[in-house]
Amino acid sequence: MTATPETLRAPLVVEFPFTRSLGPVQSAFLTGLRERTLLGVRTEAGRVLVPPVEYDPESAAELRDLVEVDATGTVTTWAWNPEPRPGQPLATPFAWVLVRLDGADTALLHALDAPGPDAVRTGMRVRVRWAPERHGAITDIACFEPYDGARRETPPRPHDGRFDEPVTGIVAPARLDYTYSPGRAQTRYLHALGERRTVGERCPSCAKVYVPPRGACPTCGVATTDRVEVGPRGTVTTFCIVNIKAKNAMNDAIEVPYVYAHIALDGAGLALHGRIAGIPYDQVRMGLRVEPVWSDDGRYPDHYRPSGEPDADYDTYKELL
Ligand SMILES: [Zn+2]
Repeated sequence: MTATPETLRAPLVVEFPFTRSLGPVQSAFLTGLRERTLLGVRTEAGRVLVPPVEYDPESAAELRDLVEVDATGTVTTWAWNPEPRPGQPLATPFAWVLVRLDGADTALLHALDAPGPDAVRTGMRVRVRWAPERHGAITDIACFEPYDGARRETPPRPHDGRFDEPVTGIVAPARLDYTYSPGRAQTRYLHALGERRTVGERCPSCAKVYVPPRGACPTCGVATTDRVEVGPRGTVTTFCIVNIKAKNAMNDAIEVPYVYAHIALDGAGLALHGRIAGIPYDQVRMGLRVEPVWSDDGRYPDHYRPSGEPDADYDTYKELL
């Protein structure tokens, strides 16, 4: 067995705008923030929920009994955030806090502007710091700040939830940036691809060859350590015609329609995914024999093209469908 190469790691980012419409309760809550008005909703049992929800968490009844609560509150728990990330409420270190606003029975998650963790404690009094410009979003609360006033005992005030020009939808930017490590088996697989070789791993129990390897056989639950070179040629087992524009890994536009296929490389125990090119899309078929066309940098198969061999007999790949 060869020495294990250093496990690969790479930064990955998934980012997209998430657009959602608001029902009557969330619309009133966010429009209220724009108007510096904090709204909650009263449950059947009489509890006041801030932020409000549309259905009673206990009875599942529809909730519409809106009430206004105060912009002051009490920290119920917190965590210090020493390294704020892009898009978080404050650019300097701050505390994430759950704040029970005066008049509410539940707590709202937000940021607390404090000089350090020593300045934060459960039970401390805080108040809303409004954003200078407000648009009907949770960011209309810039953050919370320490406040030395006592808890108000005035009950929540009924509110009809009506505002001029209510906010009816929001666009929430969703972003997930993380470090991906493919693990031992796929690191070997990727290193081999850089040498234009496709290497799977065989299960010692059922003898199935996994490409790409997963490090373990999902059927038998045992580690796959026996490395097996497969391909480079293979057989199209199934395929679909894609009409949605896409780009390849080099960011080049792929002409539509194009074909994406399951390809059983010779010697592999299951099919992998690959794009088929070098043949009109409507001539791709089950059993078509294909070979890889490597990317310009030689690190991976960009797509597969017909190898020129006769089509494979159905019986040779029917178990791999
Ligand atoms: Zn197995």
